[in-house]
Amino acid sequence: MVSNTSTKPARESADGERVNQERARLLYEHASLGIAFIAVVCTCVVLLVGGSQAYAPRMWAWWSTMMAICLARLTAIRRWERGDSRNGMLGIRWFAAGILLQGAAWQVMAFFLFPVFPEDQRALVLMVMCALASGGITTLASSFWLAAAYATQMTLSPAVMFMLADRSANGSAVIFLTLSYLLMILHAARVNHEAVLRSIHAQESRQTLLAQMQQAYQDLATAQVDLQNANQNLEHRIRERTSDLVKEVAERSRYAQELTRMASTDSLTGLSNRATFSNRLTACVKSASATGQAFAVLFIDLDRFKEVNDVRGHDAGDLVLREVARRLAASLPEDAELARWGGDEFVVMAPGVRDGEGAIEIANRLRASLWLPIPLAAEEVSIDGTVGIAMFPQHGRSDDDLIRAADVAMYSAKQEGRNRVRMFEQSLADDLASRHSVAQALRDAVSSGQLSLHFQPIVSTLTGRCETMEALLRWHHPDLGLIAPLDFIPMAERSGDIIGIGRWALVEACRVAAQWTSVPSPPAVAVNISAVQVLSGTLFDDVEFALRESKLPPSRLHLELTEGLFAGDHERISPAIEGLRRRGIRISIDDFGTGFSSLSYLQHLPVDTIKIDRSFINRMNRDSHAIVQAIVMVGQALSFQVIAEGVESVSQWRELQALGVTQFQGYIVSRPLPGERVAAWLLASAHANRDLASLSEKVGNDPRLDAAYAEAVVAQIEESSYCSLAKVDRSGSGDRQ
Ligand code: C2E
Ligand code: CA
Ligand code: CA
Repeated sequence: MVSNTSTKPARESADGERVNQERARLLYEHASLGIAFIAVVCTCVVLLVGGSQAYAPRMWAWWSTMMAICLARLTAIRRWERGDSRNGMLGIRWFAAGILLQGAAWQVMAFFLFPVFPEDQRALVLMVMCALASGGITTLASSFWLAAAYATQMTLSPAVMFMLADRSANGSAVIFLTLSYLLMILHAARVNHEAVLRSIHAQESRQTLLAQMQQAYQDLATAQVDLQNANQNLEHRIRERTSDLVKEVAERSRYAQELTRMASTDSLTGLSNRATFSNRLTACVKSASATGQAFAVLFIDLDRFKEVNDVRGHDAGDLVLREVARRLAASLPEDAELARWGGDEFVVMAPGVRDGEGAIEIANRLRASLWLPIPLAAEEVSIDGTVGIAMFPQHGRSDDDLIRAADVAMYSAKQEGRNRVRMFEQSLADDLASRHSVAQALRDAVSSGQLSLHFQPIVSTLTGRCETMEALLRWHHPDLGLIAPLDFIPMAERSGDIIGIGRWALVEACRVAAQWTSVPSPPAVAVNISAVQVLSGTLFDDVEFALRESKLPPSRLHLELTEGLFAGDHERISPAIEGLRRRGIRISIDDFGTGFSSLSYLQHLPVDTIKIDRSFINRMNRDSHAIVQAIVMVGQALSFQVIAEGVESVSQWRELQALGVTQFQGYIVSRPLPGERVAAWLLASAHANRDLASLSEKVGNDPRLDAAYAEAVVAQIEESSYCSLAKVDRSGSGDRQ
C-alpha cells in the first residue's frame, strides 16, 4: 500500500513530464520553418513598408532585432534538438520566451511605427500580424496560454495602435473586427489545444499500451522461456519417473506373477496344485462337452510312500516326490496336464486321449517311468505307482465326478495289490459305497455285540502240547453274515476304529483264556495287535486293564505284532514293547519275512518269538524252502522261538520239524475254534498227548533218543486226534477259512 501511494504521484508526474515533453516536441518540431517564414515575412514587410521611407532605418533596426531573435530562437531550437535539456516544461518556457519576445518585437514595431505608417501600410502590417497570429494558433496549439498570449500580442496591440493612429470610424471598426477575430482564433486555439492534448494523451496511452504490450510480450517471452524450461524439467522428471515407474511396474508384475505362480503351483514339485488342476479340468470338460470328444483323467498314488517317509525321513520323502513329479511329467504327452493332488497323489488330464486303450498306455508309461530306483543321499529307493483311469464322458461329466471315478479306480487297484492300472467301472464305485457302509456298520460292531473271537491252537513240535491259542476276530454282520478279519481290519485301521476293536479283543481274549482251567497247564492266549494300536500309545494301559479285569497271569498273554511296525520308528516302538516284556508278556513278530527284514536290526528286537508267514510255508515244497531254513537258523541264532503258521499237511510238518521249527499253527492241528469249543478241544488234545508225554519222559535228556521221539510224534500226529479234530473242524467249526 505504502509503495503504491508513493509510486502513484511519481507515475503521474512522470506521465505529466512525458506530456510536457510531447508538447514541447510539437512546439519545436516545425519551429525552424516557422522562424524562417517569419524572417521572410519580416524582410518583406521591411521592403514593402519602409524600405525607402524616412523611418527605414528604424525599420531595418527592427528587422535586425527580429533577425537576432530569430537566430536566438534557432539556437534554442538547436539546443533542444541536440537534447541538451529535455525537461518538457523548461523547453516550453524557453520556447514561449522566444516566441513572446518575437511577438513583443512586433508589438514594439506597431507601437512605434504605426503612428508613422501610412494607412494602407498600417492595414497591411495589421493583416500580416493577424495572419501570423492565426498561424501561431496552429503551430502553438500544444500550449494554449502561449497561443493565446501570442495571438493577443499579434492582434490586440496592432489593432489598438491602428485605432489610436486612425481615430476615424475605420479605426473603431478595425478594433472591433480584430477583437472578434481574436476571440475567434482564441476559440480555435482552445479547440486546437484540446485536440492536440487529446492526441498527445491518445498517443501517450497508445505508447503506454504499446509499452505494456511490449512488456506483456516480454513477459510472455520470459514466461514462454520459463514454460519451456519448466517443460523440459518436467519432461526430464517424467522420463526419470517413468523409468522408475517402469521398473516399479515390472517389479510389481514380477511379484504378481510370483504370487499367482505360488497360488497356482505346488511348492514342492513345481507342478500345478489341486485348485489350478480343477479349474483346467472344468475348462476341459466344458470344451469337450461342446465338441463331444472324449478324454482321460488319471489318478496316480505312490505305493508304500508312507514307509519311505517314516523310515527315511521327510527330506528323503520330499526328494522322492520331486523326482517322481519330474519323471511323470517327462513321460506325458505334450497336451497332457500333470498336477500334485496332495501327499503322494498325482493327477493327469489327457485331452488328446480318446479311448481306454490310449489311457492305459499312458498309465503304463507313467508307471514304467518309476521303475528305475530313485537315488537318495546314501542309498536308493524303489517306488511304484497305482493308477486309476476315468474317461469323459462315460465315467463322469464334471471335474468332480471324473476325479472321484479315477480315484475309485485307483483305490480298487490298490485293494487288488498295488502297482497296477485300473479303469473305472460302476461296480467299483458300488463296491466302495458298500465298503463305506460296512465301515459305518463296523463302528457299531463292538457296542452291538457283533464281534467275537475264535481261537486257533499253536502246538509244540516237541511235546505236541497246545501251548498257545491265537485269538482271531470274527464279525457277524446281521446282513452280510460272517466277515473275515482281513476284510475289515485294514478298514478299521484306516478309520482308527481298530483302537476300540483291538481293546475289546484284548479284554475278551484275556477273559476267555482265564477260564481255560479244565487242563492242568492251560495255554497262553496270543492277541493280534495292530500297529495303529501300538502307535496310539494306549496299548500298555489297555493290556494292564485286560489283565486286571481277567486276572490272567501276564505270562499267559502273548502279543503278536507285525514286522513292519519295527521297521518304522524303531526308537519309539522298542521302549513301549520292552515295557510290556518286563511285565512278563511275550511278544511275537507276526507274518515274519514279509516286511522290512533287516538282519542288523533283528538282533535288537525286543521279541521272544517269530512267526514265519504262512505264504512261505505254503510254497515250501516249491521255492521257499531255503527262506524258511534261513529264518529258522536266524531265529535259533538269536534265541527266538520259531513258529510256523499255516501248516496244513503232514509233509510240511515233517519238513518243518526237520528244519528245527519248535511250534506249529495250522489247519493240520486245528482251524480257529469258537470260544466255547476251546475247553473241549484242550481236553481232547491233552488226552491224546498223554502217550507222547510218557515217551518224552523216557527220552529225558538223552540226545540219542531224540530221533525216536520225533518219529513217534509224527506218527502220533498222523494218527492222532489232531488230524481227526482238524478233519472234524474242517467240516463243522463254522469257520470260513
Ligand atoms: P494272522 O495273525 O496271520 O492269523 C492267522 C491267519 O491264518 C488266520 O486268519 C487263520 O485263520 C489263518 N490260518 C491259520 N492256519 C491256517 C492254515 O493252515 N491255512 C490257511 N490257509 N490259513 C490258516 P484270519 O483269522 O482270517 O485272520 C487273518 C488276519 O487278521 C490275521 O492274520 C491277523 O493279521 C488279523 N487279525 C485277526 N484277528 C485280529 C485281531 O484281533 N486284531 C488284529 N489287529 N488283527 C487281527
Ligand atoms: Ca497273528
Ligand atoms: Ca500271521
